[in-house]
Amino acid sequence: MDNAFLSQANFKNIEKVNLFLDQLTSTFEAQGLKSLDYCPYCGLKETDGTRNVKGAVLHVHEACVDAFINKVSTHLETEGKSKEHLIQSIVLAMVGGVIGLIPSIILLVFTGIYSAWLFMLIPLAAFYGFKKGGAQKGSYVMILIAIISLILAPGFMFYVYYSDAMYYNVLFSDYLAVDGIRAAFIKDMTFSVLFTLISLGVSWKQIYKQTLGQIKKDIEALKK
Ligand SMILES: [Zn+2]
Repeated sequence: MDNAFLSQANFKNIEKVNLFLDQLTSTFEAQGLKSLDYCPYCGLKETDGTRNVKGAVLHVHEACVDAFINKVSTHLETEGKSKEHLIQSIVLAMVGGVIGLIPSIILLVFTGIYSAWLFMLIPLAAFYGFKKGGAQKGSYVMILIAIISLILAPGFMFYVYYSDAMYYNVLFSDYLAVDGIRAAFIKDMTFSVLFTLISLGVSWKQIYKQTLGQIKKDIEALKK
């Protein structure tokens, strides 16, 4: 929207909400902004419809909403489907994921502790890398981020054990045949997969709302 600014108050106490809204209104008035009784798309009054956008009632012109939906839909159909910069974005997503893995490695090596919070850095950093690459953020980004994250953390864990076996100059299968080592290997692999899944679950919404999938959903909600 070009002419409107939506703000959400997040107080539980209703008096605080009113106080906040009063302050907000007077701040906006002081800035020359009015409350939203005009169409946010064209900035004109005498509206002929309303839309509920994320809890806020907007007064709109049906024609303006239609034009906006058309504009965004066309954009999604054309530029949104572009594969430009895709390779670059995928490579940077992997680089980002590796960088996101580093804090978890450091903590693990020095303390032997897994932190779900640190694991969250992996998908978030991978997504940051993808964005830096400049490709369109279609819904498939979610799958890409999940794959990268699920390869990196368990992959690193596997590498640790594999390089240990190399170090002792034994076959990997023989190395895992040792009872204590096999138990530790299974535990570490399970934890790294589990924590990656948790971190993906927690960061999913954060990432999804920046994809074109979210824009499509928002556009669907505007249709009547
Ligand atoms: Zn309008």
